[in-house]
Amino acid sequence: MKIAVCISHVPDTAAKIVIGQNGKEIDPNGVTYIINPYDEFALEEALKTKEKVGGEVTVISIGTDSNKETIRKALAVGADNGILVKSNSDRDSLGVAKAIADEIKSLGSELVFFGKQSVDYDSSVVGQLTAELLGFNCVSVVVDFKIDGNRIIAEREIEGGREVVETSLPAVITAQKGLNEPRYASLKGIMAAKKKTIEEKTATDYHNSVEILSMKKPAMKQAGRILGTDKSVVPELVRLLREEAKVI
Ligand SMILES: Cc1cc2nc3c(=O)[nH]c(=O)nc-3n(C[C@H](O)[C@H](O)[C@H](O)COP(=O)(O)OP(=O)(O)OC[C@H]3O[C@@H](n4cnc5c(N)ncnc54)[C@H](O)[C@@H]3O)c2cc1C
Repeated sequence: MKIAVCISHVPDTAAKIVIGQNGKEIDPNGVTYIINPYDEFALEEALKTKEKVGGEVTVISIGTDSNKETIRKALAVGADNGILVKSNSDRDSLGVAKAIADEIKSLGSELVFFGKQSVDYDSSVVGQLTAELLGFNCVSVVVDFKIDGNRIIAEREIEGGREVVETSLPAVITAQKGLNEPRYASLKGIMAAKKKTIEEKTATDYHNSVEILSMKKPAMKQAGRILGTDKSVVPELVRLLREEAKVI
């Protein structure tokens, strides 16, 4: 089976983010980039599926040359092929989905794994948009995945529980934390990845329908206040909670 995994190249969640001078994007200087954490679950599920049903796993990333570093990490973990689709500008979610859908069509993949969310822009829509563009079935926020021939049984995380659903190929699956335990790259895998080629393509032109006007960091939290350590401060605490914080 031709299985695809879509991987977003995102700032390390521990990175100190600085907004760039134009106020519309982050300043990439000094920022370490990693595989989007949810995409690690997607990659692991793709590899497990290949081990079960056979075939090959292709990793696709839309972005710039710097995405190659992330694609290479996925190849080291076990993906067979990598494709970088270059775009001359930062695309909105639909633009990313269109570039992915074009690639899936030419690859002929019938099972496509995504993360449930990219931890940079957090839109949680690229998988669903791609499914719609391709006419594929789609199951999102998946925490358990089973495939038997053409039939897929998946468990989704919902508020306070789990939902079990059935669908069939061709399908898009978006992975939630807990779907599996992602494997690490072995030394052998890292060496093998150096020999694998990353195919480079150019995305067809696209004009964003959603434009970023500005980006800002959350307001700094005010310092806490200690009123005292005995019960005599309770009336003042209650007054402040009522009149200043307005929470009671
Ligand atoms: C040319 C270009 C340059 C970019 N430069 C930057 C940058 O400098 N800094 C920055 O923070 N972001 C950059 N991005 C955006 C980033 O790579 C993602 O495309 C974006 O984060 C998608 O956000 P989203 O919230 O819509 O994704 P979501 O809808 O939250 O993503 C859901 C899932 O879709 C898949 N997915 C999302 N984006 C991609 C992708 N690009 N390729 C493959 N699969 C994907 C993943 O599986 C992900 O888990 C750039 C994008 C492009 C095309």
